[in-house]
Amino acid sequence: MRMNTTLQTTIDEHNNDLIPGENEYIGDDGLIHCSICHEPKESRIPEGNICSYLRTHPRQCACERTMLKAEKEQRLSEERQRDISRLRDICFQAPLI
Ligand SMILES: [Zn+2]
Repeated sequence: MRMNTTLQTTIDEHNNDLIPGENEYIGDDGLIHCSICHEPKESRIPEGNICSYLRTHPRQCACERTMLKAEKEQRLSEERQRDISRLRDICFQAPLI
């Protein structure tokens, strides 16, 4: 299958984008790792996969999973408090019949 040059350029840029960001480094396996928990922040795409023209795809390290879990728990707690407040207003401020 022949790809157009824009798509091929995008794929090449993705595959060559090995510049570690803040708190990242390139490990012995050639993947970007987190410098805090040392887990890889990307995974290799297996040969034969429909997306195998891309070398890697991003993955979450333990730090990101912990942060996202805390954000989700915070969001659920806020939603629960809003629900409680709304139901309390409905129950205790409605005029008595
Ligand atoms: Zn990490």
